[in-house]
Amino acid sequence: MTPDHTDLWFLPLGGTGEIGMNLNLYGHDGDWLMVDCGVTFPKPGRISADGSVHHRGEPPVQMADPAFIADRRDRLAGLIITHAHEDHIGAVPYLWPLLQCPVYTSRFTAEILRRKLAEFDLLHRVPIIVVDTGERRQIGAFNVEWLALTHSIPDPNALMIRTGIGNIFHSGDWKLDDQPLVGHGYSPKTFTDLAEEGVDAMVCDSTNATVAGHSISEAALHAGLLAAVQSATGRVVVTCFGSNIARLHTLGLIARATGRYMGLLGRSLINMSAAARAAGIWDSADRLINPGHLGYLPRHEVLAVATGSQGEPRTALRRLALGNHPDFELEAGDTVIFSARAIPGNEEAIDALIARLRALGVTVITAEDSPVPIHASGHPARDELEAMYQWVRPRVAIPVHGEAEHMDAHAEIARRTGVGKTLVGRNGDLFMIRPVPGMRRQVVETGRLGWDRQALVRVD
Ligand SMILES: [Zn+2]
Ligand SMILES: [Zn+2]
Repeated sequence: MTPDHTDLWFLPLGGTGEIGMNLNLYGHDGDWLMVDCGVTFPKPGRISADGSVHHRGEPPVQMADPAFIADRRDRLAGLIITHAHEDHIGAVPYLWPLLQCPVYTSRFTAEILRRKLAEFDLLHRVPIIVVDTGERRQIGAFNVEWLALTHSIPDPNALMIRTGIGNIFHSGDWKLDDQPLVGHGYSPKTFTDLAEEGVDAMVCDSTNATVAGHSISEAALHAGLLAAVQSATGRVVVTCFGSNIARLHTLGLIARATGRYMGLLGRSLINMSAAARAAGIWDSADRLINPGHLGYLPRHEVLAVATGSQGEPRTALRRLALGNHPDFELEAGDTVIFSARAIPGNEEAIDALIARLRALGVTVITAEDSPVPIHASGHPARDELEAMYQWVRPRVAIPVHGEAEHMDAHAEIARRTGVGKTLVGRNGDLFMIRPVPGMRRQVVETGRLGWDRQALVRVD
């Protein structure tokens, strides 16, 4: 199966019909382009209430089976990583040896990727090409432009993929955040310009297509987080997703405003902050204190940011809850703030963690019970999707990054805003954008690989 010069194809192997393990292929004139290469974590219920991990015998890290493209890797012109979330970047160290192509990405994402590759001894084998927002690159038969959009991590990019016979707008993960706090913002003109030129298909994030309204801006969380920290008298521990550098920036401001010193607990947070510093996007990172000093400070001068918002075992917050963290111990009167949502399936583990903290006499504030927002989603709600369709005006809408329910809701929004054709499918379906828009079901066998004891194994 090879696209000729009259074909323009989209072929998702992961992330369409599910949330996680994104792996997208575009095909034209004999060449393939891969966009994103992420992991997923096994099905809900994966962490039990006692913190032990249940995989039903499955490996803990899983990814899309790339067999289709690995078999044709001589025609794979490159891999683009849109941003550094695990569901987009996490499988690169596992799958790159099967692909062996150059990797194109933004500065911050490249920093994260290098750290991952180093752990697999691949750092000096993988060609990484850093691309700035606004730049274009010719990658095989595809001319790709990196476009500024906003998300819940620094340096996310949407892509305009141009070929001689048609153009595709690939959104990546996004929201419309007018005050993203770190990194680049976005401009509606970027997208209305695409409409002028003509967009044949828009391949777009469906995660929050069932959510009404507009996502909350990162900047709008300052008031709620400040109030929560101000009301605390003892130590404050905030748990959030480590990749959200904007959230760390806000917490840094709040620490200074409330006379507290901020330190980071947990490997992924320290990794992310180092990458943000190296990429030059978090200038106040140098005001962090060594977490080893937190235990020696008066309690009211401590603001620790900790990994473990999902109740995962061996993370900083869980160790604090169990009283076996090396840096300090939580006591009655301390406060723990969850500036994160519960990923479906983790509720039980989170509830157990909260119960444990409350048993210590710790005050717990969650995003669900806070009267003002202390967490914001990184994905577009309905109003944002509508705005984007009105700007880009694609001929065909292809919802991805969601389960069937999200993609159907997304397609409905596209139709309502005047898009003539919507194609809703799933992994392994071939979406034909040119010569005639349409879809062929299950033309490629898809599956899932897991990483088990240093080797890839077939999961299903
Ligand atoms: Zn993301
Ligand atoms: Zn994602």
